[in-house]
Amino acid sequence: MIHRLQFRLLLAFILVILVVTGTILVFVVRNTGSELQQFDRRAEQNRATGLGFLLTRYYALIGSWEGIQLLVEQIGVSEEEHIVVTDADGILVANSRGSSLGKQYHTTAEGTPLFTPRFLPRGGTPLAPPQGKKIGTLYINPESKPTLTRHLAETINRFLLWGGLIAVVIALLLTFVLSRRILAPVRALTATARKLGEGDLSQRVQSQDKGELGELAQTFNAMASELERSEKLRRNLVADTAHEIRTPLSNIRGYLEAILDGVVSPDEATISSLNEEVALLSRLVEDLQELALAEAKELKLVIQPEDISAIINQSVVSMQGQAASKDITLKAELPERLPLCAIDAGRIGQVLRNLLTNAVTHTTSGGAVTITATPSGNQVEVSVTDTGDGIPAEELANIFERFYRVDRSRSRRTGGSGLGLTIARRLVEAHGGRITAESQPGKGSRFTFAVPVTATLITS
Ligand code: ADP
Repeated sequence: MIHRLQFRLLLAFILVILVVTGTILVFVVRNTGSELQQFDRRAEQNRATGLGFLLTRYYALIGSWEGIQLLVEQIGVSEEEHIVVTDADGILVANSRGSSLGKQYHTTAEGTPLFTPRFLPRGGTPLAPPQGKKIGTLYINPESKPTLTRHLAETINRFLLWGGLIAVVIALLLTFVLSRRILAPVRALTATARKLGEGDLSQRVQSQDKGELGELAQTFNAMASELERSEKLRRNLVADTAHEIRTPLSNIRGYLEAILDGVVSPDEATISSLNEEVALLSRLVEDLQELALAEAKELKLVIQPEDISAIINQSVVSMQGQAASKDITLKAELPERLPLCAIDAGRIGQVLRNLLTNAVTHTTSGGAVTITATPSGNQVEVSVTDTGDGIPAEELANIFERFYRVDRSRSRRTGGSGLGLTIARRLVEAHGGRITAESQPGKGSRFTFAVPVTATLITS
C-alpha cells in the first residue's frame, strides 16, 4: 500500500494542501488580529474623548463633581464599562463599581490601581475645559464586556478553520479522483506488459495522451511491435530451415532405402550423389550459423585500415580456376590508388567471394565477370558485374531475403543455400555500408556495395 503510486501522490498532495492552508490560516489570523486590535484601540480612545467631553460639560454646568457618581454608575452599567473619575488632586470622585470613593487613586506603582487600561494611557485621560485648568482625570476599562471586534475575530477564525477543513476534504477527494485518472494509463501499461510477458505479443496500449505517458505508450507499442516482428522472424527461420533441410535429407534417405532394397547399387556415382547432398546440408548449417550470428549482431569484426585492392585481387585469384573452367573471363579493373578502408578483411573477402561465386554460377561460358572499385565521398564502392542471365525485375527486391532463390531447382543443383546474399548484406551492413543489385535479364547483373574509408573510422 505504502509503495503504491496513488498513495504516494495522495500523500504528496495532502502535504501541499496542509502547508498551503496552514500558511494562509497563520497569515490571516495574525493580520486580522492586529488590524482588529488597532480598531479596538481607536474605538477606546474615541470613547474616552467622548466621555471626557460629557464629564467636562457636567462639571461646567454643576461647577463641581457633586452627583457625578450616579451618572458614572449608570453609564458604567449601560455601557458595560468600568469607569473611574478623579478630581484634579487625584481623589476618587466616581467609580462605576462604587468602591474606594474619596480615596487617593493610583494607577502607578505607588498604589494599587483598580485596573490597568488595555490601550489607553495608564495615567488616564485628563479632564479640562477648553483653555481651562485641569479638573480631573478619567479612567475607562471596557475589559469586562467582550468587544465587538473580539467577537468578529473569533467568528473569522472559526470560519477560516472550517473553510480550511472543508478545503482539505475537497482537495483530498479531487486528488483521489485525479490521481486515479492520471494513473489509469500506467495501469493499462502494466496490464498490457503482463499479457505480453505471458506470450500474447499482439497486445498494444491504447493511449490518447499527448504528454510523457503518451510517449511512453508509443515507445512501449514500438517495443511490442519489434518483439512481435522478431518472434515472427524466428518462427519463419525455424520453418524455413526445416523446409530447407527436409529436401536433402529425404534425398539421402531415398538413396539409402533404394540401396537397401537393392534397387540402386552403392557404386561410386551413388556415393558421390549422397556426398553432394551431405555437403549441401553442411553448407546450409554453416551458412545458418553465420547468418544467426550476423542477425544477432554478434559477429566479431576486426576492423582496421585495409588495402581493399589487395583483398579484391586475392578473391579474383581464388576464383580464377572456377571461372576458367567455365571459360569465363574474370578480372579486376582498379584505379591506381584507393584510400585505405576501415574493414574486416576476412569478412569483406567473404562478401566478394560470395558475389563472385554467384556471378560465375549465373554466367554462361564465354561471358565475363569484372570487379571495379571507385572512391565515392568517404566510401569506396565495389561492383561485381557479370554478363550472365540476369534477374527479373520483380525478383530483384527479394534476392537478399533469406532462402530466396530465383530458380529453385537450378539453384539447388548448383548447391546454393539461398543464404549467400543475405549473409553478404548483413556483413556489409555490419561495416556501416549498403549493398544493392541491378540487373537486366538476358544481359547481366551488377552487385555494388560500399565500405567506409579509414578517415570516417577515425572521425566517427
Ligand atoms: P544462392 O546460394 O542460391 O546463390 P544467394 O542468396 O546467393 O543464394 O542468391 C539468391 C538468388 O539470387 C540466387 O538463387 C539467384 O537466383 C540470384 N542471383 C544471385 N546472384 C546472381 C547473379 N549474379 N546473376 C543472376 N542471379 C543471381
